[in-house]
Amino acid sequence: MTWLELHPVQWFEELDSTNRHLLGLAERGEGESGAVVAARRQTAGRGRLSRQWQSGAGENLTFSVFLDLPIEAEHSMTLPLVVGLAVCESLDEFGIAAEVKWPNDVLVEGRKLCGILCERPPGGRGVVVGVGLNVNMTSSAAMGIDRPATSMRIETGREFETEAVLARVLARLQSRLGQWALEGFEAVRADWLARAAWIGRDLVVSEGQSNRLGGKFVDIGPRGELILLNPAGERISVLAGDASLREK
Ligand code: ATP
Repeated sequence: MTWLELHPVQWFEELDSTNRHLLGLAERGEGESGAVVAARRQTAGRGRLSRQWQSGAGENLTFSVFLDLPIEAEHSMTLPLVVGLAVCESLDEFGIAAEVKWPNDVLVEGRKLCGILCERPPGGRGVVVGVGLNVNMTSSAAMGIDRPATSMRIETGREFETEAVLARVLARLQSRLGQWALEGFEAVRADWLARAAWIGRDLVVSEGQSNRLGGKFVDIGPRGELILLNPAGERISVLAGDASLREK
């Protein structure tokens, strides 16, 4: 499947956002499936819902991959989960025990180490997968983020070469993407669950502006939906939203 063969990384000193760069190419029909773009500095890094992604110049990894995937949109909802799992597995190789947080983050003991943003080019084909991984961020920079954040350096007390980290992440990503494309999310689901943050805990999930759901996080569905057990003992599934731990 040539569409998921990742290409050599194209490095930029500066981009507004690696996702935006690849989305622009995809919209113009110039996106090459498997293209990988990384920026040493992003001037307008983004998260979901126009949230900002903060990353000091040269310190961390911010990169994106374009996949012209011939897979229905519904199936592609599991893509951020697969990417999160691949990131976690590459972190194992650096001695960092991380967890996947539904739907699109990687955490260490509740602190965010990596954010993942999958976006479809409006009017274009395929999907752009953006990854922000805090590599050498210092604790003082992490304290400047509005929610608990961490980095590989904070977790290990060592500095890492960003290129070397990216090579490991891409190798894991390549292998998990291949499995996902050939066998579907079902082949990845158990491994994802085994590393899921907050499994068995009470969560609050907001779906859009007004709808808030609560329940115990018990499973992940075949389409990547979060499955909660509500106080009435019913299983409810949530396709998209923001999940947080219920305050005691
Ligand atoms: P949540 O953490 O609730 O799941 P989200 O997945 O919507 O949020 P993203 O869109 O992935 O979050 O990322 C944006 C948010 O991440 C920002 O609003 C900020 O709180 C936080 N953030 C920004 N930069 C960093 C960073 N370098 N490391 C960790 N967290 C960050």
